[in-house]
Amino acid sequence: MSTVIDGRKTAAEVVEKVKALTADLAAKGVSAPGLGVVPGLAVVIVGEDPASQVYVANKSRTAKECGFHSVQHTLATDTGEADLLKLIGELNADPAIHGILVQLPLPGHIDSSKVIQAIAPEKDVDGFTYVNVGKLGAGEAATAFVPCTPAGSMLLIERVRGRDLSGLNAVVIGRSNIVGKPMANLLLAANCTVTVAHSRTKDLAALARTADILVAAVGRPEMVKGDWVKPGATVIDVGINRIPAPEKGEGRTRLVGDVDYAQAAEVAGAITPVPGGVGPMTIAMLMANTVVSACLAAGLARPE
Ligand code: NDP
Repeated sequence: MSTVIDGRKTAAEVVEKVKALTADLAAKGVSAPGLGVVPGLAVVIVGEDPASQVYVANKSRTAKECGFHSVQHTLATDTGEADLLKLIGELNADPAIHGILVQLPLPGHIDSSKVIQAIAPEKDVDGFTYVNVGKLGAGEAATAFVPCTPAGSMLLIERVRGRDLSGLNAVVIGRSNIVGKPMANLLLAANCTVTVAHSRTKDLAALARTADILVAAVGRPEMVKGDWVKPGATVIDVGINRIPAPEKGEGRTRLVGDVDYAQAAEVAGAITPVPGGVGPMTIAMLMANTVVSACLAAGLARPE
């Protein structure tokens, strides 16, 4: 059986480090002598998508736990694009805010790309603005904000394989801007030989079997089967899918990843569970990006 990669434990360690950095920043009182600097995170949600509300509540709770100034803007579904852009402009100009997160998806009448690109790159703790995307693509992740889910996945990979991933074959299934592409860039920066697969990829199972590191970010429940996994591989399951669970009672559901966990765990060297794998890392890395932003705004060196 493979090693279970405990995302909750690693996420808790990241959060502890963020708390320590936050306390340190406050003690330094850099930009306001005697008062300290409190990292500020603004989360913006438009509409009433239940899953988004759960994510946002978790983010706000963790921000408070870290000692941040945490602000949540909950806007009605029919909020106009201009009003949302105005709010982003205000948050960009607010010195108490170091990180701005717009919860996706936005309602259909709003151009998500326009809203995301309106965020000041230095407050873009989700890493979605073109400046941050470009830096990561140009191999300058050290000065960028890297999207939280791939950044967290990378940390989990390093926990089991160490920091030297040179020459390993990595296959990333999925090419979204949020997960697949930044994940591939991070693995490339770590000197892996990276292949990005997607819905048009031929013979995906055979390709997946070449992977020392296999990342599934597809959104298809349990698609990756045990015989897709190379013996000893590190399997990172980014997928979060809710499927019917009649065994728990009528109408009940359960969460599964994009990997058939029971099968893959028989073959893999290490594997992330769902839930409890990549999911908790995403929020932890958001906190890490926000405290980094606060440090930079205060004129301090970027923490490791
Ligand atoms: P997207 O829907 O944006 O992208 C899915 C990708 O999978 C696309 O590139 C698509 O290919 C590819 N794909 C779809 N079907 C197949 C197939 N049959 N074979 C091969 N590739 C396929 O999803 P996201 O990247 O946003 O999210 C992926 C998963 O990760 C979801 O389950 C999501 O819920 C989860 N997620 C989890 C997070 C966490 O915190 N753990 C955070 C973000 C996402 P193509 O480009 O050709 O269409």
